[in-house]
Amino acid sequence: MKQLIHSTLALLILASGVYAAEGHDHDKVIPGPKGGRIVEVEGGHAEFFVQPDKKVSITFYDKDMKVVPAGEQVVAAIAEAPTGKVKLEFEESGDSLVSTSALPEGDGYRIVLQVKANAQAKPQNLRIEYHTEVCGKCNRAEYACICEGEKDGHGH
Ligand SMILES: [Zn+2]
Repeated sequence: MKQLIHSTLALLILASGVYAAEGHDHDKVIPGPKGGRIVEVEGGHAEFFVQPDKKVSITFYDKDMKVVPAGEQVVAAIAEAPTGKVKLEFEESGDSLVSTSALPEGDGYRIVLQVKANAQAKPQNLRIEYHTEVCGKCNRAEYACICEGEKDGHGH
């Protein structure tokens, strides 16, 4: 019985430790170096950035925000536009992966980014609300706004 209590305690401590570490990571919103939105992927970060031609570029970074080649990673995106779902395919372009076609007209729709570590891996789905209006506080497009983490709770 004593043994059981000990392992339960150990598990609880371990679980709370993991939780705290995760919470800490998520408090900090990393501004995308290209002006895009940073999402967490296996082994680091990826930046979702919509170019002026409305093609999507994805750039991978390591934990220290150094650019890393896409390597074997496979990316696809599904734009859930009001006019219908559009799937975007990506091809290598310099340090990034760039979609072969542009996003559908307009904004205010959801984009599901699918990132796979390699062609055989299970896809990681990342949802991005695509809004292009510029945030008055951080001067970034809403989809890439970095103010979200700053919940200061002030009134008016
Ligand atoms: Zn902002």
